Amino acid sequence: MTDFTMDKGADGVAVITWDVPGKSMNVLSMDGATALDGLIDDALADEAVKGVVITSGKKDFAGGMDLNVIAGMKDRGGAQGVFDGVMTLHHLLRKIELAGMDPKTKKGGKPIAAALPGTALGIGLELPLATHRIFAADNPKAKIGLPEIMVGIFPGAGGTTRLTRKLGAMMAAPFLLEGKLSDPRKARAAGLIDEVVEDPLAAARDWVLAAKDADIVKPWDAKGYKMPGGEPFHPAGFMTFVGASAMVHGKTMGVYPAARALLSAVYEGAMVPFDQALKIEARWFTNVLMNPSSSAMIRSLFINKEALEKGANRPEVADQTVRKVGILGAGMMGAGIAHVSAMAGIDVVLIDAAQDAADRGKAHSAGLLDKAIGRKKATEEKKAEVLGRITATTDYAALAGCDLIVEAVFEDPAVKAEVTRKAEAVIPGDAIFATNTSTLPIGDLAKASARPEQFIGIHFFSPVDKMLLVEIIKGRQTGPRAVAKALDFVRQIRKTPIVVNDARFFYANRCIIPYINEGIRMVGEGVNPTLIENAAKLMGMPLGPLQLVDETSIDLGVKIARATRAAMGEAYPDGAVDAVIFWMADQNRLGRKTNAGFYTYDAAGKRQALWDGLDAQYPQADDQPELSEVQHRLMFAQTLEAVRALEQGVLEDIREGDVGAILGWGFAPWSGGPFGWLDMLGAARAVEICDHLSARHGDRFAAPALLREMAASGDSFYGRLAARPRAA
Ligand code: NAD
Repeated sequence: MTDFTMDKGADGVAVITWDVPGKSMNVLSMDGATALDGLIDDALADEAVKGVVITSGKKDFAGGMDLNVIAGMKDRGGAQGVFDGVMTLHHLLRKIELAGMDPKTKKGGKPIAAALPGTALGIGLELPLATHRIFAADNPKAKIGLPEIMVGIFPGAGGTTRLTRKLGAMMAAPFLLEGKLSDPRKARAAGLIDEVVEDPLAAARDWVLAAKDADIVKPWDAKGYKMPGGEPFHPAGFMTFVGASAMVHGKTMGVYPAARALLSAVYEGAMVPFDQALKIEARWFTNVLMNPSSSAMIRSLFINKEALEKGANRPEVADQTVRKVGILGAGMMGAGIAHVSAMAGIDVVLIDAAQDAADRGKAHSAGLLDKAIGRKKATEEKKAEVLGRITATTDYAALAGCDLIVEAVFEDPAVKAEVTRKAEAVIPGDAIFATNTSTLPIGDLAKASARPEQFIGIHFFSPVDKMLLVEIIKGRQTGPRAVAKALDFVRQIRKTPIVVNDARFFYANRCIIPYINEGIRMVGEGVNPTLIENAAKLMGMPLGPLQLVDETSIDLGVKIARATRAAMGEAYPDGAVDAVIFWMADQNRLGRKTNAGFYTYDAAGKRQALWDGLDAQYPQADDQPELSEVQHRLMFAQTLEAVRALEQGVLEDIREGDVGAILGWGFAPWSGGPFGWLDMLGAARAVEICDHLSARHGDRFAAPALLREMAASGDSFYGRLAARPRAA
């Protein structure tokens, strides 16, 4: 069985159907491309064939290139391997586009159309863009676009060059630079595709039979072509390119090689003939792929994220799909968890101490659905269906038959113990009990449970409906079925899980707190707050530490500091940080929620600027540190904590450490995560920086033994992982 098959109809239309065996979504492999190439040759050579329609045997057209194949091109053939692989695709797509026409007269080619039943992404759109007309089914669920930039590459099979020439650089920008996806109607309105019809295959077939020579010559292959919006040296085009460079740099801070390479490919490509432009595109694509950042991003944001979602670390236990979940506490987190569960088709019992609190929790879901209806992402029927699954009550008896409980009441061990006992009195003996605590050890909370092997942590991040990561925490006694249940639940609600062991702050919060603290500590030392915030952003952190603490709230920081100090006693290392945040709290500058924090906010809550009142309490030192010193402090504060979590066995898998860091707290995505970043630096260089930082700033920067050992042996984290035999 091959990925593409061809059926030559009696009417002279050859229908090529893409249907990769054994997969629910088509993805292109190099073997698939070779097969398609052979069929196109056959169709163009066959006198009986008047034209071709390329379609899919599945409900969607295609999900894109198999990114494992792209990673493989590089591993096997280096830069030349990537370039040759990409040029092979260019030749195939160019062959489709020119369709056997006479190069001079542009006559005698065979019309080739694409018929898209559903989603068409990446190469799944680049291939249709090379055909002469694109027909899509009127399927509002379908997504059409070029999302490559989201995983650190850019459309490299002609998508960049063709879309720029079709729409002009300005109109193509959101699709290329932001990876914007559209439904078929919006895609047609934007000029990405040509027609939206009931039956794309039939419409494409009719069009192919009626098409004339002139219908199949692309504008850029016709005489007198001018790029819409103007080439870079045209006055209007010049403005576009200058603006685009500034915008891209502003958004990416220059840390994403793909965005820069994409702009270069568009700019340079716009000044040369089409075939030259494809070659330039291929060169820049190769350049990006050879950059360690793109492999690190593909590794974490695609390959390993998917592996974790598919249960790479799931114990071998029978299916644990959740049918009825009980949620204790209908506050901010409980309401969010109820919503995502009901959206996933799970029946929900949402419990709170008072009926109006439970009702408010359910109303949260109604509010989110109303917003989605406003954006045409949901319907009234969908809303009724989702809300129909949520029972908001104070009655614990309603928990009967729940196979999973997620507890999200106040962060108070006594309250948690009480609701644990009340729920366990009602739920089936084999139900799993999960707590959403963010700070209390799972092992301690499990003491209230009669079945500690069925007790586990499922730690969501706020806001639940938006955040993609869920941390699953194993207590000492947690058994494999509880882990499998938690993983199956996370799969159902379509989030990405990491599984960690029980320790203070688990993984994500453990790493993010030192990042925030380092920023605040520098304020106390008199480092310019603007320098602190910009240093973080120039490393690709989405939020500087001071903005982040404003968002999460300064009083939460105070609460955590007090609790941590009480637990650690003499060993507590963060007195200098506390001095600053306790003072901020005394000024009632609690962050965004009081419209006053390290930043100022206007009446509508819009962030304005860093608060200048800080200077009176913490005057800026005359001698400011180098940018790189500030950056190293902020980055090592997080990464060394991640390494310690690994050393101490809290993290069991660096893939989880990297994926969790990017999805959980936005750790510089270009780096692929803290372990990816350390690998890029090299362990020896990382140790050198630790030695420098610890000499100047203290033991918190001391190189962990694992890093020293790796520096001595010349190992990398992913090198070690690859060398380790593993099941997944
Ligand atoms: P919240 O105060 O918004 O909600 C807690 C809810 O529990 C309230 O509605 C309260 O009425 C209810 N409740 C209290 N006692 C109860 C009882 N005996 N029976 C039934 N309901 C009871 O708090 P939240 O922010 O949703 O946090 C809940 C849990 O989630 C905490 O353990 C917290 O540490 C954890 N958590 C919070 C966040 C966050 O960002 N807020 C993130 C991850 C985890």
